[in-house]
Amino acid sequence: MRYKLASRKEKTENTIITVEDSSVGGKQLAVIAGPCAVEDRDLFIKTAVQLKKLGVQMLRGGAFKPRTSPYAFQGLAEEGLKILAEAKRTTGLPVVTEVMDTRDVELVAGYADVIQIGSRNMQNFVLLKEVGRGNRPVLLKRGLAATIEEWLMAAEYIMAEGNKNIILCERGIRTFETHTRNTLDISAIPAVQHLSHLPVIVDPSHAAGKWGMVAPLAKAAVAAGADGLIIEVHPCPDKALSDGGQSLTMSNFSELMSQLVPVAAAVGRKCNYEGKKLVRQNII
Ligand code: PEP
Ligand code: MN
Repeated sequence: MRYKLASRKEKTENTIITVEDSSVGGKQLAVIAGPCAVEDRDLFIKTAVQLKKLGVQMLRGGAFKPRTSPYAFQGLAEEGLKILAEAKRTTGLPVVTEVMDTRDVELVAGYADVIQIGSRNMQNFVLLKEVGRGNRPVLLKRGLAATIEEWLMAAEYIMAEGNKNIILCERGIRTFETHTRNTLDISAIPAVQHLSHLPVIVDPSHAAGKWGMVAPLAKAAVAAGADGLIIEVHPCPDKALSDGGQSLTMSNFSELMSQLVPVAAAVGRKCNYEGKKLVRQNII
């Protein structure tokens, strides 16, 4: 056996990860939303307040960004983490943010409720062990070109150090197809649920790379049994410093949330949404 602690054979019942008042892996569909990066204090707080009204369980926003070009916006680092902490104080929602460097794990863990390990670092074994020695839940994204077994072994690295709180995240993989940024591997959801007891969520934003495809992929993921979604939402995608092209506006996101309610119900899950009237009243 190449992985054990992450395996369904080791633990037959589903693992539910509890983060403050939210949970991932239970009846409630866990929706995590926010901009790709924390860019500006006022913008982020305003976005967070609106997302809370729409019923999301957690906020996302990168302070350390793994950008393909070294000249692209790299994130606000600790200043971004402080903005996340303020958004949490204002809304009461837990925050998810990425760590890229072992030297920053302690710092990020001081602010984040869930530590994200990005796709590019899925096999950074030193980083995996470092977050494994802490007790913060880890959102482990599938590597750009990782097999499901490699992904579960990455989870095993974290668990073997003692931290059993892992949320797996399918975010699309590299294939020959170039129409989309990546190819969302829907089959990874039932495959992971068969092989592992860990919860699995889906990131349709990085899979598609195009905002117009985010809603259909999100609905497909929920229908296929995903425990949650992580979605990029920006109040003004055209002005976003990263991933604007795949970010939903607040009203697009609100529309998606309303569509997720019946899809979630069809597979025995609950999706909180009370936003329609807020949109009609122009509050969102
Ligand atoms: C992100 O969540 O903004 C991100 C960089 O994701 P990934 O690691 O999946 O590319
Ligand atoms: Mn992004």
